[in-house]
Amino acid sequence: MSNIRFRALETMHHRKPVAVQLPEGKVSDYFALNVFNQEQMQKYLSKDAYRAVLDAIDHGAGIDRKMAGQIAIGMKEWANSKGATHYTHWFQPLTGLTAEKHDSFFETSDGKALEQFSGNALVQQEPDASSFPSGGIRNTFEARGYTAWDPSSPAFIMERGGGKTLCIPTIFVSYTGETLDNKAPLLKALTMLDKAAVDVCQYFDKDVTKVHATLGVEQEYFLVDTSILNTRPDLQITGRTLFGHAPAKGQQLEDHYFGSIPDRVYAFMLDFEQESYKLGIPLKTRHNEVAPSQFECAPVFEEINLAVDHNLLLMDIMEKVARRHNFAVLFHEKPYSGINGSGKHNNWSLGTNTGKNLLSPGSTPKSNLMFLTFFINTIRAVYEHADLLRASIASASNDHRLGANEAPPAIMSIFLGGQLSKVLNDLEKSVGEKKLTPDEKTELKLNIGKIPEILLDNTDRNRTSPFAFTGNKFEFRAVGSSANCSSSMTVLNTIVAEQLNNFKKEVDLLIDKGMKKDEAILKVLRRYIVESKNIRFEGNGYGDEWVKEAKRRGLSNIQTTPLALDAFVTKKSLKLFESMNIFNHREAEARHEIMLETYIKKIQIEARVMGDMAINHILPAAIKYQTSLANNIESLQDIGLKADMYATQMEQIREISGHITTIKKNVDAMVEARRRANKVENVRDRAILYCDKVKVYFDVIREHVDKLEMLVDDEIWPLAKYRELVNVR
Ligand code: ADP
Ligand code: MG
Repeated sequence: MSNIRFRALETMHHRKPVAVQLPEGKVSDYFALNVFNQEQMQKYLSKDAYRAVLDAIDHGAGIDRKMAGQIAIGMKEWANSKGATHYTHWFQPLTGLTAEKHDSFFETSDGKALEQFSGNALVQQEPDASSFPSGGIRNTFEARGYTAWDPSSPAFIMERGGGKTLCIPTIFVSYTGETLDNKAPLLKALTMLDKAAVDVCQYFDKDVTKVHATLGVEQEYFLVDTSILNTRPDLQITGRTLFGHAPAKGQQLEDHYFGSIPDRVYAFMLDFEQESYKLGIPLKTRHNEVAPSQFECAPVFEEINLAVDHNLLLMDIMEKVARRHNFAVLFHEKPYSGINGSGKHNNWSLGTNTGKNLLSPGSTPKSNLMFLTFFINTIRAVYEHADLLRASIASASNDHRLGANEAPPAIMSIFLGGQLSKVLNDLEKSVGEKKLTPDEKTELKLNIGKIPEILLDNTDRNRTSPFAFTGNKFEFRAVGSSANCSSSMTVLNTIVAEQLNNFKKEVDLLIDKGMKKDEAILKVLRRYIVESKNIRFEGNGYGDEWVKEAKRRGLSNIQTTPLALDAFVTKKSLKLFESMNIFNHREAEARHEIMLETYIKKIQIEARVMGDMAINHILPAAIKYQTSLANNIESLQDIGLKADMYATQMEQIREISGHITTIKKNVDAMVEARRRANKVENVRDRAILYCDKVKVYFDVIREHVDKLEMLVDDEIWPLAKYRELVNVR
């Protein structure tokens, strides 16, 4: 493993070669080369220490300080053997990004230099919590916070600029125990889900002792040339273009999707893929996406906590590797208006220690009843907490996508496909309130037995649904491409866990009353089918018809983040979070506040950039061009031409004046609206003002700037245009 040879790959950029070192040989030769995985643990840890880690992974068992000390020594030896000089706790503060604070292994003792890493340093670090968002938690309590080791996600070595750092995945909590990050709540949700799902599995299979959620994340992104990006302050600062007329050729020819990958992009992909492989990220798929300069990559699914860590790590790697290739990666949900946005499809399922996928139908009536149980409970959970699920994907950037005519709409609905819709409809009809006759029972069993084992029928796909069943997993498609998907996955796993708990209670009650187990299960499932029927939708989720139909059904359709976030702190949600031990009220409210603050800041920054660009970039260019038109008219008059010979120029001057006036007027009004909003104390009210009173100016300012783009001389237009931005090669 350690004798990997590298070959150089040359890729060109503006005639400058970019040297990329690619490992020779098969991926399996260097996969997880930089991960302290079980194979390495066995090598570097004592038997006891190794077992302690496994116990922590499999059963959430604690690791005592003495044992941590032993593990730290082994981990340090491994890291040093790989050339790592520093270590860091790697965590996920509520900024949505990852954070690191590096310390050196190097210490001096009695004048001698040595490499050290204690158990304490492994299990706990104290970054200054006051520099991370805490939603007021840090004000009332202690300012300090600490990071604590998550043994269920393996440590890894990050290579950067020749340096190597041991990264230890951790949770981040305040000294009083409140969670300040995205990982801790997810781990809590997974613990609850494990317990609830194992309990339900006992009806069918006593061998199931552990259930874990699985996640496969499809990551969409855009690439843009760094040199072109550098002419666009909006893209650089906000991640999206605030101006830009649609290009003559966009995606209308649909020639990009699955097209051949341009050479330079291909080199970038190879480069970030091999970096990812070394860190154990099992990337599998790469292709062009629908929009020009848009691409996607997807790994093989993994246990969900690991999958989330890997997705965050992947995004970090992609951004860094892109720089080597003179590209910038855009993870924003909507970098370009009028061109498809990017999502992060979350493929989610449940796996058991016995190797079964609980959302995969089996070959016997018994295994199919087990499948139906988890399938229908998931539907019931999403139905019950659709608003909370909607809140979990809300962000200023995802607002551009949800509800636009391309991404899943803001209305939560579930697509099942024809076969399973029919199964559920039949089930609903056959199990009524009355007792089943033996014949009916046999028929029902037969019907359930008839669910085909393989449901992966590609013709039966609906790409417009936010939450679609795709044969052996659900695909939550409304998650934004820039999101840390642990927030939506925390909610999904929590609501399914709660639902499974309720299901178990109800079935047990019927069994206690003397009903047969299978019959009790079917009876409860049938009721769930009836109750949650409104959330099932097989049609086109992009159509206006669906908006009307959803309204009729009483489903929410909340278009904007400030209002969508309300669902996070309703009585119902607070009760859910508290009873499932995910957030106490303070934590939930703190998070709500942080999400609102983030929203405000994002819109505020966009408004500022928009104002700056309009006044300092666009208007001067327009005025300059207008002056040259005026000069031209003057010269034409000087040589004695009649007015009708420069009527076009006159008309252009008038048009430009109109746009300039409108832009200036609206920028001023936007600044004023911002001022008024900033004075509002209540954060929710302020967020709503930013949404309704500040953001509304974006469209009109943009419209007039984009008109100017079509009028003003291309030579003096200060910004790269869409045709250049979405044209990576
Ligand atoms: P598509 O949705 O484009 O047809 P795939 O069927 O290949 O793509 O699946 C997309 C993602 O779903 C991949 O990351 C894959 O690993 C993941 N996936 C497949 N099975 C499961 C599962 N049981 N649990 C979670 N994710 C899964
Ligand atoms: Mg997919």
